[in-house]
This record gives sequence, structure tokens and C-alpha cells, in this order.
Amino acid sequence: MKIVVAGGDGFCGWPTALYLSQKGHDVTIVDNLVRREIDVELGSNSMTPILPLEERVAAWKEVSGKDIEVRIADLTDYDAVASVFQETQPEAFVHFAEHRSAPYSMIDREHAIENHRNNVEGTLNVLWAIKDFAPDCHLVKLGTMGEYGQPNIDIEEGWIEIEHKGRKDRLPFPKAPGSFYHLTKVHDSDNIMFACRIWGIRATDLNQGVVYGLETDETRLDPRLVNRFDYDAVFGTALNRFIIQAAIGHDLTVYGNGSQTRGYLDIQDTVRCIELACENPAERGEFKVYNQFTEQFSVKELAEKVQKVGSDLGLDVKIAPTENPRVEKYDHYYNAVHTNLLDLGLEPHLLTDEHIAEVLKAAQENVDRVKRELVMPTVTWK
Ligand code: NAD
Repeated sequence: MKIVVAGGDGFCGWPTALYLSQKGHDVTIVDNLVRREIDVELGSNSMTPILPLEERVAAWKEVSGKDIEVRIADLTDYDAVASVFQETQPEAFVHFAEHRSAPYSMIDREHAIENHRNNVEGTLNVLWAIKDFAPDCHLVKLGTMGEYGQPNIDIEEGWIEIEHKGRKDRLPFPKAPGSFYHLTKVHDSDNIMFACRIWGIRATDLNQGVVYGLETDETRLDPRLVNRFDYDAVFGTALNRFIIQAAIGHDLTVYGNGSQTRGYLDIQDTVRCIELACENPAERGEFKVYNQFTEQFSVKELAEKVQKVGSDLGLDVKIAPTENPRVEKYDHYYNAVHTNLLDLGLEPHLLTDEHIAEVLKAAQENVDRVKRELVMPTVTWK
């Protein structure tokens, strides 16, 4: 298939582009490299030394013999988006290209607005370009499990059958997101659903859990293909952040009592889920929703797993309850359905001690690159 991977220079997008290319798809990466600019803004960096995008792609050509086309383009620039669609005529457009950090969106008013502008405007441009230039293209859009929040009932996959005052309907599952970033994803989902309804666009919204891990089969082929690995309190996500904290001898910063429970998945499953979504396109006018995660953990459970693996490796890992910079529920009910991708053939890589050990060892090889001052949270919700 002809597939555009927008956001293909990022943590999820890069290994997905390589995976799809390895599988024989004709892949084009679209990215405006803003994530690298945000590193400069925050004084942060990827723990792994990632090459410039053109060099990564050249290394992939050398290793695999396969071409990945690169277009440096901003999804908020409609002319640029229009040319991507006119010139590549993709069968699937995989959309990772958003600002993806909850703390980043909560820094101040300007960041909340920029987050909305970038994410909502970018996705609207993609929807209009599909309508105008590639109406058969299947949009595969990354949303987040965070759109649902933590309701006191089971979370369904996108839709819920409701009986109300004697009448029944199948309606979008209610959303109660926990940051301005997560709200951008809710707005995107609404905009996409609407475009499916009025223009007959085909779309799959992937409500992804928190992604952990570093390598995939393709990034392991050559050190120049290594994935980015965020550890700072703004972009580093739970588990990956804990593993790096263990590697540098920092206490694991569990926010509050650590009972906050979410869905998680291995980066190796992210790439496969995208393939499954692309291979099973929505019908014209259909808005599919999959909950893309494989297991649920509380933050405390993750910290304890890292502590155990660390001590098996001879490290003295301490868990330090840390004042929670976020406003979130503790000791809450959490049970989210996630059968759609399993039904399509996903075989999950579950979280094992061996996996944590592999990532921990990779982190130990790069400890010199870590700026310790970036580990503690500075952005608060209040
Ligand atoms: P990332 O920040 O590492 O990558 C995003 C990429 O998109 C970057 O390379 C960035 O330069 C690019 N980008 C951003 N705005 C752009 C624009 N306007 N035009 C062109 N390129 C743009 O993030 P990630 O972790 O790879 O996440 C990818 C997607 O998956 C995001 O939409 C995110 O919300 C979603 N997601 C991620 C996680 C996770 O744990 N990483 C969890 C759930 C959902």
C-alpha cells in the first residue's frame, strides 16, 4: 500500500515507518521536525542519540535496500498538506503528527493554545485534503485512551449502547479528558467523526494507551536506526521514565499514591496495530474506533516492577512518592475494553521483567546524555 506516516520522525512514527517499509509498503514520512525544536525550547533531548531524519532514512536504505520518501511539511500549512495528498495519493494516511505531551499543554495559556492550534488545525487540514484530493484514502489517526478519563463504568471501544427514558441508541462513549492536550484529541475525534458522516470519509481512531519500550525488530538492525527515548518530566511517559530514573540512580517519581491506572502497550505492538488498522480500512463514511493497549497497570505497580528488575541487576532503586503536579483521580475504577485489535490478529508483547531489563540496559549505555535537572516535574495543573 501507499502509506503516509505523518509524524514519522517521532517516538511512535519512526519505528512504524520502518516496520511498514520492511513489510513492503511504499512509505512517505511527513514531519515538520517540531519535536526536535521543542527539545531546544525545553533544554531537553532524547536519551538515545538520534540522527537527523534524512540521515536516519539514508541509513535505512543502506540496511534494508528500501526507500522511504521524506517531506518536511507542517500539517497546519494547508498548501503543504494539499500537495502531499495530490502528489502521493496515499491509500492510508497514518497521523501521528501532533504535540503529544499533557504537561506541555499545561505550561501556560500560550502552550495550551499552541497545542490546540497545532493538533486541531493539522487534523482539520488532513480531513479537508482527503475530501478534496484523495476521497478514498483511509485516515488512521492516533487518539489516546486519555480521551475517556477514568469513568466509574467499563470503557467501551468508542461507542456505547444507551437506553434512556425508554429509547435506545448507539452513541459515542462519553469523554472526560485530563489535560488540554487530551482535549485536543477529543476535538479531533469529533471532527473526524463529523467528516465521516458528512463527506463519507473513511477513518479509524486509535485510542492508544501509554507506549513503553525503545526498540523494534527494525530499529535493532543498526545503531543509526535507534528510536528516540524521552525521559524528562514533560515528554517522558510512565515506565520509560522510571526505567531511565533507575538507570541514572534517581528515585522513581511516583506521583501521589500511585494508584492511577491506565492502559499500556509496547512500541512493538504500536507498529503492528497500525499495520492492522491500515490492512482493515473503514468503509466509506465509517468511523472505526479501537482501544489500542494491551494491559492495565497502576503507576505504583510499574514502579515496583522497575524496582525489582533494577535490584536483580544490582541497582539500588528507591520509589519516592512525589507531590502530584496533575489533578487526577486516585483509587478509581478502571476497566477498558480492548478486543478489536486482538480480533484482527494482534499478538501482544506483554510486559515482562526481561523486557524491562533490556530497556534498562539500553538506558545504562546512555546515562551520560541525561540531564538530571529535567527529571523532576515543574509543570503543574493548578
Ligand atoms: P512524538 O512527539 O515523539 O512525535 C510526534 C511527531 O510529529 C514529531 O516528530 C513531530 O515533529 C511531528 N509533528 C508534530 N506536529 C506536527 C505538525 N503540525 N506537522 C508535522 N509534523 C508534526 O510523539 P509520539 O510519542 O510519537 O506520539 C505520536 C502520536 O501518538 C501522537 O499523536 C500522540 O498523541 C499519540 N500517542 C502517543 C502515546 C505515547 O505514549 N507516546 C500515547 C497515546 C497516544
